[in-house]
Formats: sequence, structure tokens, C-alpha cells
Amino acid sequence: MTELKGIEILTIEKDSFVIHPTIIWDDKQTLLIDTGMPGYMEDINLIMAKANKSLEDLTAILLTHQDIDHIGSLPDILTACTQHLTIYAHKEDIPYIEGNLPLLKANPAKFTEKQWEALPDSLKFIYLHPPKAQVTDSLEDGQLLAINEGLEIIHTPGHTPGHISIFHKKSNTLIAGDALVAVNGKLQLPNPVHTPDMDLAIQSIKKFLKYPIKQVVCYHGGIVSDNVIEQLQDLAKSKTV
Ligand SMILES: [Zn+2]
Repeated sequence: MTELKGIEILTIEKDSFVIHPTIIWDDKQTLLIDTGMPGYMEDINLIMAKANKSLEDLTAILLTHQDIDHIGSLPDILTACTQHLTIYAHKEDIPYIEGNLPLLKANPAKFTEKQWEALPDSLKFIYLHPPKAQVTDSLEDGQLLAINEGLEIIHTPGHTPGHISIFHKKSNTLIAGDALVAVNGKLQLPNPVHTPDMDLAIQSIKKFLKYPIKQVVCYHGGIVSDNVIEQLQDLAKSKTV
């Protein structure tokens, strides 16, 4: 009998944009981490076949944070799925995800007229009609989810106030969300343009140092498995200017 390891890093390439959601499962539960841009539901469904799964198998979705490329297809998935889905997010990002506060970044009011005009119409439409959905379970730093021998929630603010990363104990995998970015197999700090509090983002990276991490999954850039601890130690020493 083949035993699956129960974690699969997905790659979705669409409109020259590449993202890496993750699914983690065991006998009872199947968790999807992050949902892509609006309009990505079918792509997610198709790529889940890599793990012999489909959207119908999902029991829960975890959002690492409120950004539109992470929450985008959640409303469509909730509409399409007939089963009950637990939706997890950190308490500090929940009001944005549920539409009670405007999204911190995809907010038309924060654009200059020139920046706004430069956006493609499809993005303008999304920013004017941001995705929103109810979160069922709010997460806190240090919380454990009993899925596939345990996921530990690490609150990693900076990129957004309620950003979380996830440590999967069994595979020593850190699912970093946007707390880190990977470029050509190297870990980097999150993009300052999209990270309102870089000092806090660096403090958050320091939190990773206590975990025996063997590989890091960056939503932008994919898997990094070479000298991960050294790379994290170097990044944790970064200074903002
Ligand atoms: Zn983000």
C-alpha cells in the first residue's frame, strides 16, 4: 500500500502570474492554503488532481493573509462546494477578508489618479469589487491544527497585520505565504512595495529560527530547500534603511 505524505505544493501559472498554494491532508481532512486571484477556481481544482484531490474533497481553507491573490477565489469556491468548509484566518486580517474594512492594499482610494489609470481594466474591476467571504475560525500565534500530525500557526505580521505562516511538523516544511519570497531557489525578504511594515516583517522572520525547517514554500517563488536555516539566519539580520 502506498502511503502519501499528505502535502503537495501546487503551481498555478495564469496570465504570466505564478503562485504556489499548498494542500495538506490526512484520512479525515483536506486543507487548501490560499486560493489565488478571482477566477482561479477551476485552475485550483485541476491542479489538485496532482494529489488525487478535487475541490469536493476540501474540508478547510486557510488564508495566510488578506491580499487579493490569496483570498481571490474563496467566494467562488464557497459557492461551488456543497460541503461545509472551515475557513481559517488570523484575527487581525478577518475584518478585511469579510469586507468590514477595505483591503489594505487593493484599495482604490489609496491609488493616485495616475497609478489607477495605469491598471488594466480587469484589475480595476477586481479592486472595485473585492472578493469577500466569512471566516469561520480565527487563528492566533502558536495555535495547533490537528491535520496530518500537526500544523503550527506562526503569526508573522509586517506584510499585513494578520499574516500567518504555517509549520508542518511531520515534513519540517514552513509554508511562508508572503512572509518570504523565493527567487531562483534563494529566500528573500518580502517585496517592500507590498509590505507596509518591513521592520515588523524582519522581526517575523526571526520567529522562524526556532523551528527545524528543512524546506520553505513561498507563495511567490515556490520551494526552497538548500541551506534553509543559514538563509533564514541571514535574512533575520537584515536592516531596513
Ligand atoms: Zn501578499
